[in-house]
Amino acid sequence: MLNIVLFGPPGAGKGTQSSFLVESYGLVHLSTGDIFRTNIKGGTELGKMAQSFMDQGQLVPDDVTIRMLESEVNQHSDAGGFIFDGFPRTTAQAEALDVFLNERGTPISCMLSLDVEEEELKARLLNRAKTSGRPDDANPAVIQKRIDVYNAETAPVASHYATQGKFTGVDGMGSVEEITDRLRMAIPA
Ligand code: AMP
Repeated sequence: MLNIVLFGPPGAGKGTQSSFLVESYGLVHLSTGDIFRTNIKGGTELGKMAQSFMDQGQLVPDDVTIRMLESEVNQHSDAGGFIFDGFPRTTAQAEALDVFLNERGTPISCMLSLDVEEEELKARLLNRAKTSGRPDDANPAVIQKRIDVYNAETAPVASHYATQGKFTGVDGMGSVEEITDRLRMAIPA
């Protein structure tokens, strides 16, 4: 089973690249941001709770996010593997994911971390706002907050996987196709 953590700051291209990798490798794509947005659209209690954090560019609390992710994994018992996109975003989430997947005998295979310059991230998010309809992409102050939260709380998750020998950095600058090729080369055979 191939379980990939696709990692990187907001606007790094995780969602875009996930759709290519899903096709090539037959994986299930789990984006916690997408799942929260589906809940917001559906007006669920989870969505209402998550929205207040998302609108401010802050992380949704770990306990809720971990429970939601585990429930999604459990709903795909026949999956050949997963791409985790936007999860784990804290060391506590990474530790919980390790315990959960190890119990299932399907640990993380690798973390691929997209490396993109901050100015490029901001430009990509503002551009995406034109079509995404996401309020958190349209507001420069919220974008800055998301990048700051990434640097403070999420970036340390890379060392969690580096310690396990599972971390690979991938240049996330360039065309979508170039970046897909680099990711393919980094995925273990
Ligand atoms: P994304 O779609 O990955 O950019 O996530 C959008 C927003 O959803 C983030 O800014 C957070 O507020 C929330 N979110 C998504 N994934 C997580 C996570 N793993 N932990 C906490 N909050 C998350």
